This record gives sequence, structure tokens and C-alpha cells, in this order.
Amino acid sequence: MSLYPAALENLIRQLSRLPGIGPKTAERLALHLLRAPEEQCQALAAGITQMKTTIGLCSRCGGLSDQSLCRICRNPSRDHGVLCVVEQPADMVALEKSDAFKGCYHILHGALSPMDGVGPDQIRLKELFLRVGQEGVTEVVLATGTSLEGEATAAYIAEQLKDLDIKLTRIASGVPVGGDLKFIDQVTLKRAMETRHAF
Ligand SMILES: [Zn+2]
Repeated sequence: MSLYPAALENLIRQLSRLPGIGPKTAERLALHLLRAPEEQCQALAAGITQMKTTIGLCSRCGGLSDQSLCRICRNPSRDHGVLCVVEQPADMVALEKSDAFKGCYHILHGALSPMDGVGPDQIRLKELFLRVGQEGVTEVVLATGTSLEGEATAAYIAEQLKDLDIKLTRIASGVPVGGDLKFIDQVTLKRAMETRHAF
């Protein structure tokens, strides 16, 4: 039996589907929105709709973008010969915040995990190898996570590229084992980027 009117129950149900939001928090948020000014609620609803309709993936690096090429891929002052390979868009954002890297990125949208059915074809590896062949790349920085999957992905990429005349580096010191890039502080990430070593 629902205790609230249907529209409110529906909003509570939708909010509780978000990560980290349990039924109690969802109920509190919904009641907060019910009391909030009309324009705040409309701005929230419009923000969600606008995000879903305007944001896609950069056709080159796979980063989040509202244009066919993202801000970094469009920037002529970035070093387009150095590609930093990361697992997720949020990892790229974390590295950008560290301000330690002036090259371009390649976002895989995942890491190899055969146990979960994630093989080379399920992440953007083909696109990476194509870019390396076509874009005059001189260095590939392997900045996948230090989890088992991240390490396996870095090793796979290194193996595929080992016969090419490019520098292969792996971000290093300071990144905790099992760590996720987006949760690491900026100083640690900056150091990890600056002390990257040959793979
Ligand atoms: Zn891009």
C-alpha cells in the first residue's frame, strides 16, 4: 500500500535507483523537492534532460563531449603525439585536475576482465590501435588502474604495441595497489604522472 500520492511514490522510486541512495534518502530528497521552489525543480529536471540529449562520446578519444571532438582533442596546444590511456572518463578528468599532463587521452570505457566476459572487443582497444597507427603517436602512457584488471589491460596493450617504434610508459609511484584513479588525490596523481616509467 502506498502512503504517498502516486506521483510522489514514483519520484521516490526513481531516486532510490540512483547509486548510494536508499529508500529513506530517496523519500527525504523527494519531500525536499516537493517543498523546493518551482524553478529549482525545473532546473534539475531540465539539467537531466539536457545532459542526456547533448552529451555523447568524442569520436577520437572516447571522452565525454557535447561536440564530435572534445575540448582536449580540439586543442592544438596539446601534444597530440602522446596518448594517455585510461579506463573511464572520470579518470581523465582526475588527471586533468592534477595538471600534470599536456598530451591527449584515449578512454577505454572499461578494463579487460575475462571472468566478467570483458575481452579486447568489449572495450575501445581497436580504436586505440587504429589511432596509434594513424596519428603519429610517439608515446603511449598506460594509466589504467592498478587493480588486476587495470594491470592486465596495460600488459595487453604493451604486448600489442611492443614492436612499434613508440615509447611505452606506465604511471607509477604513489598509486595504491587496487586503487581507482578517480578517488586518488591530485598531488598523488600528479606525482604518479611525473614519475611514470618505461613499461
Ligand atoms: Zn577527445
